[in-house]
Amino acid sequence: MKKEDCIFCKIAAGEIPSTTVYETNEFKVFFDIAPASKGHALIIPKEHFDNIFSLDTETAGKLFSLATVVAGALKEETGCDGMNLLQNNGEIAGQTVHHFHMHLIPRYEGDDIKLIPASHEADKDYLAELAERVKKHI
Ligand code: 5GP
Ligand code: ZN
Repeated sequence: MKKEDCIFCKIAAGEIPSTTVYETNEFKVFFDIAPASKGHALIIPKEHFDNIFSLDTETAGKLFSLATVVAGALKEETGCDGMNLLQNNGEIAGQTVHHFHMHLIPRYEGDDIKLIPASHEADKDYLAELAERVKKHI
């Protein structure tokens, strides 16, 4: 289902142009308009899902499967040294386009891209207790 005023629904429908790398009935792979690095690509399901919390597991599985193939193809053609897969959910997490998308960000030796936040020491008691509560939902 298409959501009015969603820029990625419009890209999925071809109403807004994008540099498309690959496309099926269900997915579209295109280059990010403001790339973090050379070859920065996005994979979207054509159907609108706001984020991972509404994405169904079947679509998620197919999308990740496609991501592995696209990652290999990008590595082959960009000669990148590594790659980050990034996927933001919710404004607090940095999501600016609220149509599920996965970033594939090729990394090059010497680039200065910072995606991983500073870490702090784990509270092991909290983690053990949280693991018990979370597993009930899985
Ligand atoms: P987010 O911050 O939501 O995870 O990422 C959204 C991404 O979409 C950003 O990296 C941004 O540059 C990209 N983007 C936003 N609008 C467009 C557009 O119209 N075309 C393309 N190709 N990318 C877009
Ligand atoms: Zn959408």
